[in-house]
Parts: sequence; C-alpha cells; structure tokens
Amino acid sequence: MDLSLNDLVTGVVAGAFLLVAVFTVISRVLRARGERHALAHRVVCRLCLHAFEDPGHGRIVDCPACHAATPRGGARPLG
Ligand SMILES: [Zn+2]
Repeated sequence: MDLSLNDLVTGVVAGAFLLVAVFTVISRVLRARGERHALAHRVVCRLCLHAFEDPGHGRIVDCPACHAATPRGGARPLG
C-alpha cells in the first residue's frame, strides 16, 4: 500500500479535527456535571437572599442568617 503525502496530510488534519471534536464533547459533559454537582447543595434563602451550602437531603432547610425555612432547589445557573 502506497501512502502519498496528500493522503498523509489529509489523515492528520482529519484526525486533528476529530480529536478537537471529541475533547470538546468530553469537556462540555464534565463541565455540565460539575455545575450540576455544585448547584445540588446550594440554597438561596427566599427571605434574605443569603446563599449557603447545605449538604443534607431534606426539602426544607433553615437559613443560617435569618433562620427562615427555605425550600431547596432555588439556585439556578446564570445564563
Ligand atoms: Zn435567610
């Protein structure tokens, strides 16, 4: 099998594009997973807007600033 310079360059460029696409998809998946994990324990108080982390699993947590009962799930990513 003869491999010409044209075939070699085409293969290298196509491989580089494929690697960029694969690494882009991997990076986006890992970033989305990191953001989801970061927001899982973040709670924003509806009364005083104090943002805090609560590692528990209860639906209602007490705000450490104003002690108001705050439902979990109020934190949303910006943008
Ligand atoms: Zn509060």
